[in-house]
Amino acid sequence: MTKATIEAPTKSASTSAFRSESIFNELGMKQDPNNLYLQTIDAVLTAAEILELPHHLKIILAQPKNEIMVHFPVRMNDGHFRLFKGYRVQHNNALGPYKGGIRFHNDVSLDDVKALALLMTMKCSLARVPFGGGKGGVKCDPRTLDNDELMRVSRRFMAAISRHIGPEIDIPAPDVGTNAQVMAWFADTYQNMTAASVRNDALGVVTGKPVDMGGSLGREKATGQGVVDVVAEILPDMNLPLKGLKVSIIGFGNVGSWTGRLIEGLGAKVIAVMDHTGAIRNDEGLSCEVLALHVAETGGVAGFVETGGGPTKTGKHTQEGAQAISNEEFYRTTVDLLIPAALEQMITPENATWIDAKVIAEGANAPTTPAGERTLLERGIEILPAILCNSGGVTVSYFEWVQNKSSVYWDVEKVDADLKRHMVMAARRTQLAKQRYEVDLRTAAYIAALDQIGKVYTMRGIFP
Ligand code: NAD
Repeated sequence: MTKATIEAPTKSASTSAFRSESIFNELGMKQDPNNLYLQTIDAVLTAAEILELPHHLKIILAQPKNEIMVHFPVRMNDGHFRLFKGYRVQHNNALGPYKGGIRFHNDVSLDDVKALALLMTMKCSLARVPFGGGKGGVKCDPRTLDNDELMRVSRRFMAAISRHIGPEIDIPAPDVGTNAQVMAWFADTYQNMTAASVRNDALGVVTGKPVDMGGSLGREKATGQGVVDVVAEILPDMNLPLKGLKVSIIGFGNVGSWTGRLIEGLGAKVIAVMDHTGAIRNDEGLSCEVLALHVAETGGVAGFVETGGGPTKTGKHTQEGAQAISNEEFYRTTVDLLIPAALEQMITPENATWIDAKVIAEGANAPTTPAGERTLLERGIEILPAILCNSGGVTVSYFEWVQNKSSVYWDVEKVDADLKRHMVMAARRTQLAKQRYEVDLRTAAYIAALDQIGKVYTMRGIFP
């Protein structure tokens, strides 16, 4: 590896928003600066340039290996048939079977799934779990489906992609809008559609399953646990001890609520939370345990506010001292650490000027736009990147897959200890690359991930 600076591929006369314009041109890609896939590729290719990865590897990594798009009909409860669109993108499998979540959301698009699949390739490599990168999604709003409809959508989607996946081929997991129950339906459908139903041995076709059905202890909280492990490793060196740390969180679903509960347990104070229903603040500290009960009951953080005359919205769980605030007030709340744990592209140049935090730990995938990131870095706000912070989910998914293969199940202490070791090592790899190449932490994380992929490609060569 050769030392270089982040000012890699400059294009003197170019007006392109992308540093990797020449590769985009070579591959005939449209150059839309708001496209998440192009933004993600551009950041990865910039790191590849700094690492001096051979050109053919950059071209290989700039496109997924397979893009599968399916349309499938599902009978709804009122008797009519609705056609759904789903995707499975398999980005790269040089390090092992494709691995990545499946999202049920109305905004799912092929390019976003491609971006998330690429991030999975990077994440698995950085965490040194023997998987490649994949991602999938179905365009639907699961909140409008009842349990039977959700089951039929899940089963038909799995039926549609079943020939492309498998425990040694491609292993889905939960993501936004899917959960352990959906994984149980996926695994059952896959088993019934393949010879695995005779052998009953394909539990490892998906991870994030219910614990009683081959899931791993510690998987549900794993992504939040990993965020906290990284923060606990890095922040004290920045003179930010966890005890008394002021934290705000965007999104209070799986990742946000577990991160909140776990960081609170280490003495930090979560003082503001925002989700799709609103934003709340309590300068004395919100109780994340109670807030998680409220969200489970009502669907969002709004209404957690105790007015003295009883809850403002249906729901038994409220907290005195919590106030409703606007989204702008949420961003302007003074904290040490902001954790985006909702959707992509939420931190824009506008709200990046409002953010009053010392560090951002990305629990969500790609929550920061490139322009938002530039604003944050110019303002001296450090960003702990998503492929580092949220790799705890895929790491415990790997442990689940190993347990399914061996039929030996681990206690949660072993899961947590092994997860911590992976997270600490990934954090150190990232910090080493930052020092060595004098780059920001995101570029450093990509460099550390690409270094491993580059080595493996050098050993394997390109077939034939
Ligand atoms: P989730 O569906 O459980 O929660 C999503 C949260 O985002 C909810 O609280 C929702 O209210 C909030 N949200 C949605 N739209 C919003 C908006 N406009 N403003 C504010 N909040 C909004 O999903 P999750 O599993 O917690 O995933 C969150 C992120 O973490 C995603 O980017 C996902 O890809 C990533 N991630 C998840 C895992 C995992 O194990 N679940 C692993 C790695 C990465």
